[in-house]
Amino acid sequence: MYRGSSLNMTSPELARYRVKEIFGPTIQGEGLHAGMPCLFVRLAGCNAWDGRPETRAASACPYCDTDFRGGDTLDLAAILARLQPPASSLQRSALGCVLTGGEPLLQADADLLAALGAAFSWVDIETNGTRPCPPRPANVFVSCSPKAVCGQPVVVDPDWWKILVPEQQGFIEQALTSGKPVFVQPTCPDDGPQGAGYAANLARCVELCTTRGCRLSLQLHKYAGVP
Ligand code: SF4
Repeated sequence: MYRGSSLNMTSPELARYRVKEIFGPTIQGEGLHAGMPCLFVRLAGCNAWDGRPETRAASACPYCDTDFRGGDTLDLAAILARLQPPASSLQRSALGCVLTGGEPLLQADADLLAALGAAFSWVDIETNGTRPCPPRPANVFVSCSPKAVCGQPVVVDPDWWKILVPEQQGFIEQALTSGKPVFVQPTCPDDGPQGAGYAANLARCVELCTTRGCRLSLQLHKYAGVP
């Protein structure tokens, strides 16, 4: 369990976070909690790409389809206030929370992780692995989708890995050696999910499952048509 500093909502030096968006309830589409209801917090900014379309092809993640630029600067109380499900939904304590980005560990600190862990049933941090994770409660998990970001090593100790195929296959051995669950997820080339490129990537993922013990990740939210 987390044994870090206690949450002090009255501190005059409250941390502030750049938040791109907060949305949900929706479905976590990936990883150990795939299929479970949750809210999403997307923090702004990433160290793998500056987010401009004209620089994407030369970035560490030329397949990235996430808009993580801009957003609002919020303190912790404001974030929690926005993380209220509609009255018709499950109570917040019955939901999970996905803390994503951009790269969320550029900003997330122990207070934010403690607050989210206390508010939700579970929390998934979706990170590229190049930043260490602050102290966290036992129900706050780290999902690492490793990226080769300007030679920066993967330093996080995740609860599971998500390897994009084929772009991140170079991390497969490191992930398997860790003994943690390894999800493999096919990326979708320009010809779309119905195209030959996706089919080839999916076939490679299935092969990694049946020959290496990986687990298939198919981004359930996209099949369900939810954000
Ligand atoms: S680390 Fe994630 S959010 Fe950042 S550019 Fe790569 S895929 Fe996009």
